[in-house]
Amino acid sequence: MTTPARPPLLCPSDQVGRCARCQQPCHRYGAGANPLCTVCLAKVREGQQKPARTG
Ligand SMILES: [Zn+2]
Repeated sequence: MTTPARPPLLCPSDQVGRCARCQQPCHRYGAGANPLCTVCLAKVREGQQKPARTG
């Protein structure tokens, strides 16, 4: 298996945590943080093309 290239982390090292999906280091804490890394976040957004439902 090949590992896709990942962009460098641009956040302070003390805001780095593990991605909830792939366990790779990502920006998990502080301002602009996300529980998913940019790679997983992109995949999730690709799967959210349908209109969001409320409720
Ligand atoms: Zn990830």
